[in-house]
Amino acid sequence: MFLAAPQEIVYSIQHSVVLEKFDRLAAALQKELSEDSLITLLDAVQFAAEKHEGQTRKDADATPYIVHPIGVCLSLWEEGGVHDVDTLVAALLHDTLEDTAATKEEIADRFGSRVSEIVSEVTNPGGLTSEESKAWQVAHAPTLSLEARLVKLADRLYNVRDLAHGPAGWSQEKIDGYYGWGQKLLDVLKGTNAQLEALLQETINNRSQIVKQ
Ligand code: ZN
Repeated sequence: MFLAAPQEIVYSIQHSVVLEKFDRLAAALQKELSEDSLITLLDAVQFAAEKHEGQTRKDADATPYIVHPIGVCLSLWEEGGVHDVDTLVAALLHDTLEDTAATKEEIADRFGSRVSEIVSEVTNPGGLTSEESKAWQVAHAPTLSLEARLVKLADRLYNVRDLAHGPAGWSQEKIDGYYGWGQKLLDVLKGTNAQLEALLQETINNRSQIVKQ
């Protein structure tokens, strides 16, 4: 009943690629979670979709941005075996402080202080160049809570996998640099979640083999 809600959620989620991921997430969660937890997670999808409305991914199809937080949450659940609801909610919201007008207080009011803390932890400080931001993330990663490390790892896995779809307009050098940075982050996040780490390493290794051929 409450799962038949996509049409009530903002327009971007009607996109076929987004809807497919949303349906997978909803179906997976429905089997395991209490109704209250499920409603909270769907509310987080709604919140993130509203905040990211109008933003797109960097792929050639310019897929609505919300596909990414839904995918990160799904990966934590399906591949990482993470069932902690606050971590899953934080995964859905993980880019809202950095990339939208959402505030920490707004997230705390709606989803609780633990969720807002996790989202804050994975938010990069403003005013840094892209390279400075990457270096900061590597240096800062060991200080993160387990929940934040899990979100960070699933986020990295999603983005490194996405490189295979060729971000529009990226040079080979930029793509190679992104893989290298993924490896550095993986190295400092070791010991967080064996399955997600193995999948990220495998994705990076597959790429290296392609480059060597
Ligand atoms: Zn992200």
